[in-house]
Amino acid sequence: MESIINYFTTIPSLHRGLILAGGIAFFWLLESAKPLFVFDYKKWNHAGINIFFTITTIIVNFVMAFILLMTADWAVQNKFGILQWLPEINIWIYTIIGLLLLDLIGAYLAHLVQHKTKWMWRFHLIHHTDTWIDTTSANRHHPGESIIRFIFTTIGVLVVGSPMWLVFLYQSMSVVFSQFNHANISLPKKLDTIISYFIVSPDMHKVHHHYVLPYTDSNYGNIFSIWDRLFGTFTSLPNEKIIYGVDTHMQPEENNNLKNLLKIPFQKAKKIN
Ligand SMILES: [Zn+2]
Repeated sequence: MESIINYFTTIPSLHRGLILAGGIAFFWLLESAKPLFVFDYKKWNHAGINIFFTITTIIVNFVMAFILLMTADWAVQNKFGILQWLPEINIWIYTIIGLLLLDLIGAYLAHLVQHKTKWMWRFHLIHHTDTWIDTTSANRHHPGESIIRFIFTTIGVLVVGSPMWLVFLYQSMSVVFSQFNHANISLPKKLDTIISYFIVSPDMHKVHHHYVLPYTDSNYGNIFSIWDRLFGTFTSLPNEKIIYGVDTHMQPEENNNLKNLLKIPFQKAKKIN
């Protein structure tokens, strides 16, 4: 554990980039070997748009990273936040509690609020316009959404009282788990069901990308599935019934046009078509 802490305390930006790129490459290979759905799409064109949004997400996080650093340092120095108020406990338990709570505030809550708040939904909508969900969809976030998520993560770090190594560990895990649960792969059904009691499985997250309510408003989790199960937002739907997309935006020419995707949050709200 000591070596994990040391590594993530000083993790170079290059390594964080490699984790992200390595994750995409790894799941991309798995998708080619055993895809869940055989899409009739140009994988590289589709990836191009999603990787553009991944890069804007990286830029937003890189530019604002100093805010996270300052928040984590302040919390630790002033003994503020849940982890700081706990009695001395085993470092593994400490880490798991920290990861669970960072995932709750930085991912589950951030995601739920974006679905329930009209102006935020207009940014998050871009993520849902993807009709070919694969590992590159994980970070298809409008820059506006990246900022919203960053704010939630910062609040999470403050409430949790998380040291910076734990924030870096959480962020690295968050990237890889998101790539995993978006990947166009099919695990044996039993295995998927078993892991979905602990972590967000590929089948579990795919339900969130079904094009109509109430499914779109369910399964908000990213790393841990406990939050959906605890707060009653867990649903399931067989893979063969899933249609990716969002009912208000089903035009392929709009959903695969970068300029249009960037402008969607500022366009008039659309009715279901
Ligand atoms: Zn969503």
